[in-house]
Amino acid sequence: MDYRNVLTTCIYCGAGCSLYLQVLDGKVVGVLPAKQHPISEGRLCIKGWNAHAFIHHEDRLTRPLIRDNGAFREASWDEALTLIADRLREVRATHGPDAIGFLTSAKCTNEENYLLQKFARVVIGTNNVDHCARL
Ligand code: SF4
Repeated sequence: MDYRNVLTTCIYCGAGCSLYLQVLDGKVVGVLPAKQHPISEGRLCIKGWNAHAFIHHEDRLTRPLIRDNGAFREASWDEALTLIADRLREVRATHGPDAIGFLTSAKCTNEENYLLQKFARVVIGTNNVDHCARL
């Protein structure tokens, strides 16, 4: 039996509480709070206590889905990203850059959110950027 506690950051909101993932034989089985974190100080909200639940869940999406004739089908990342790029180009060319908007997430890192707003402004040419914390 191989058991480890792996220190990481809760992915659910910008508070960024620290927690330990309990890993048993390579599978994440639970969560423990981390007392040394300066903000959470060993406390977690209900989302943090369940932050491991989706990792091995059977309903977790692990591949892109593309809607074809009203039904979803699995696709490769290359196919999905190509489709997204083609559709963004098409909408931008037909309706202009402000016809496109981007919603980011507190579940992303600051760096990921920064990259998305940079992509929106520099590549697409729109300031239509918002964040789930304001929705
Ligand atoms: S434990 Fe709760 S408050 Fe802390 S980061 Fe996770 S969701 Fe946010």
